[in-house]
This record gives sequence, C-alpha cells and structure tokens, in this order.
Amino acid sequence: TVRYSTLCRRREAIANKNSRINAFVNIFPAPPPLHDKNLQLDGLTVAVKDNIATRSLPTTCSSTMLRGFTSPFDATVVSLLQDSGADVIGKTNCDEFGMGSLNIHSCHGPVRNPVNQDCATDSLEARSAGGSSGGSAAAVAAGLCDAALGTDTGGSVRLPASYCGVVGLKPSYGLISRWGVVSYADSLDCVGILASDVDTTERVFHTLAVYDALDPTAAPLDLRKKAYQYTEKRLSSVNFATSNSLEGLRVGIPQEYFPSELSTEIIQQLRNVVSELRLRGAMVIPISLPSTTYALSSYYVLASAEASSNLARYDGVQYGSYVKPPPDTDITKTSNVYAQSRTAGFGQEVQKRILLGTYALSADAFDNYFLQAQRVRQLIKEDFNRVFSIPNYYSDSPIKPSSNSPKIDVLLHPSAIRTAPLLNEGSSSSSDLSAYVQDVLTVPASLAGLPALSIPVKSTNREPERWPVDAQKPKINGRDASQRPKCFVEG
Ligand code: GLN
Repeated sequence: TVRYSTLCRRREAIANKNSRINAFVNIFPAPPPLHDKNLQLDGLTVAVKDNIATRSLPTTCSSTMLRGFTSPFDATVVSLLQDSGADVIGKTNCDEFGMGSLNIHSCHGPVRNPVNQDCATDSLEARSAGGSSGGSAAAVAAGLCDAALGTDTGGSVRLPASYCGVVGLKPSYGLISRWGVVSYADSLDCVGILASDVDTTERVFHTLAVYDALDPTAAPLDLRKKAYQYTEKRLSSVNFATSNSLEGLRVGIPQEYFPSELSTEIIQQLRNVVSELRLRGAMVIPISLPSTTYALSSYYVLASAEASSNLARYDGVQYGSYVKPPPDTDITKTSNVYAQSRTAGFGQEVQKRILLGTYALSADAFDNYFLQAQRVRQLIKEDFNRVFSIPNYYSDSPIKPSSNSPKIDVLLHPSAIRTAPLLNEGSSSSSDLSAYVQDVLTVPASLAGLPALSIPVKSTNREPERWPVDAQKPKINGRDASQRPKCFVEG
C-alpha cells in the first residue's frame, strides 16, 4: 500500500508540474495492480518517449502525422518494463520523429528545462531541455519519474541528459530491442536510458538488454557473450577491488573533442574530472581520433538518407493522417494524393531532412554524398578500433590495436559544447546550424555503434545559477569502467 500511494503521488506531481515543463504528452491513469512477487523493477516509475509503441496510449512521435495513432501492440521494451514490475507512467514529449537537438520541433510544443526553475518562470528565460528525448530528461530532472526511456540516433539521450543534469546511457547498437520503436535511421537508432543516478540506469539496462528475435538487428547471444568475456578479462587487471581506486584504468582524452565552439565553463569542469581521475590512480592519456572532424557531416547525410526512406510510408493512405486534396487536383497522379497529407502532417525540420536525404540518395548525388559519408563512417570506426584496448564487435573489420598506439579502456570528453540554451535562441531560423553543431560530440559513438554514458559533473563551486554539465564516456562494451563490475552480459 505504501508503494501504491508513492506511485499515485507521482501522478499528482505530474498533474501539478507538467503544464509548465511540458515533459509528458500522455499519462496512464492508474499504477499497475499490486502483486506479491519480487520483481526486478518493483516500485520504479518509468516514462517512455512518445516514439516507442504502447497499446493503451497513443504514440505520436510528436508529429501531426500520427496524432491520435495508437499502436495495436507494445514495444518489447515496454513489455519488459511492465513484466519486471515497473510502473510505466506515461509518454514523453520529443522532437518530431527524433529529429532535433533542442526539443523545439514538436506538435506538442517545446519542453522547458526544469533545472533552476525559478530562472524559468518568465517564458523568455526558459531553457531547452535538449533533444530529441527532452521530455524524458526533463521528467527525470523534475522528479516526475525514476527513469525514462529515450532513443538515441546521434545523441538524443546524451544531449538532453547533459542539459538537464541527469545520467543518459546510449548502449551499444543492437543490445536493446527496437521492436515497436518508430524508426528514424535504423543503422543508428538505439533505445537509451535516462535516470538521476548510474545505479538506476544500470538496473533498467539489465532488464532491457536481452536478445529479442523480433528485432532483426539485435546482437546475437554468442556476440554478447564473447564481448562480455573479453571485457571481464581486461577489467580483471584493473584494481577495482580497493575502494575508490582506479589504478590500472587507462582513460583517453581525444584532442578532437575540444572544438572551438566548446564553452570555457565546460573545459574547466572537465579539467576537474581529469584531476580527480589522476588522484584516484587512473592513467590519463591524450589521444587522437583524426576522422572526428567529418563525423557530423557524415551523420547528417546518412541519418537523413535513412529517414527519407523510413518516412516514405507516411503517405496518408497506408500510414498517417489523410488530408483530402483540393477538388481540382488530378488524383490519377498518386504523388498529388500523398502531397497534401505529407505537407500538413510533417513539420519543417522533418520535411528538410526528407529533402536532404532524398537528394543524397539520388543518382546525381549518391557517390559524392551517401557513399562518401559511408566511407567516413568506416574511418571513424577504425579510429576507435585503433585506440581501444577491446575490439568493437560490431565493426565489420575489427582492427587489433597496434602495439605502438596508446590503448585505452575508456574515452572521456564533454557530452555537449555548452550548457542548456535559452528556448528563444533555438527558435530563430538563423540558429538552425548551431542546433546541428550541438551533436558534434555525440555522433561519433553513434556512427561506430559504440556505447556512451553521459554523467553529470559535480561542481566544485555552488553558484545557484549554474547549469548542468555532463561528461561522456564511450565505454568498454557497454560498461562504465569507473563502476565496480557487476555480472551482466552485453556486447
Ligand atoms: N540531433 C540529432 C538529429 O537531429 C540526433 C537526434 C537523435 O539522436 N534522435 O538527428
């Protein structure tokens, strides 16, 4: 009963706070019935991004195209949460179909960052929660749930985690099932987890990182096992046994992750983390990942190309809302029938991506854009393979680290180039490019299929107006190496 009333209180908190934050777009009216089993996620309230299918609430992807659509089935991740005793409390706001970095491209309106709420009472002062999983990050940061699921194609879990000062995990590609997750760019899409601490993130991750035959891109069991065994072997030489000691851990600091756009406040915070790691015995090694500079361009070509193909299904006839063409339209041309629905159903940002992606896949541009971007993706994977002590099992051509290059266990770098921007900065069209630049530190791990964890950096000074800063660690096969190893299988 105590647990049940806690779950009910969460719903009250949402009723009180959500109108200002706009994190939730739909709430399940009541918690799941009480039971006497002892389940893994008992008592945990989890929110789910609105591009993840739920049978009893609509799944809109924050798009007019899917307004009112309710899936006939639950996504595998939703069933796994419910079967583990979690209270899946509701669906969270996001950028339309996951496209955006500020959660301003949503038919439900923007999400307002709940951190330092007093500063945000005037709407001109409201800050972005980050995107595209901004509703999930804001819901966790505001204490409206214990954890939330987001999706991360190029940074959509890690960037909002950073802006809202919470933990955000993008697991290795293929570890968590995408069955029932609406596709943006299939070769990059991952379900990610947001929570206020690493332990809760890990608990949810364990529940979800299981093989699912319904997802054709799921990492096979033997690969999961192999990666786990290799990681165990490597970590056994690191002295995690002594509390607080990181002796034996090799942390790489990639020089290319400090672009000119990076704010000085963030550099300072990262310096503090590096000193702390050194104090605790970790070896900090400067390294170079030279292809990083091309990652952002490669990502936007590939993600848009895949999006243009995935979103072709929303034509108002097979999928999505239908808008009747004007009476004088020549409906013998099918494109005339689709055009009305697609123009009315998709927002500006999504239309821009579809056009860019369609162009990149056209005969004229295919070699110079799409193939070139695929080559860059390969170079980025090879960069990582060269420096990591553990091979990337998802890479097509794993390279054995050469003896003369520095081998590192984890990389450490800032998650974002700045702290949360003002919402009204993001809505001016001149800032479109700056919204894309926000992803510069998150897309390389996505292109390589590597796991990455965004963790809040503790401030040494406690000014009340400080905005959250997260640091990111693409991790050894899914594990945050600064945590004591626990028993779990991942790739
Ligand atoms: N901001 C990036 C984009 O718009 C990443 C989005 C995501 O990870 N879903 O494509």
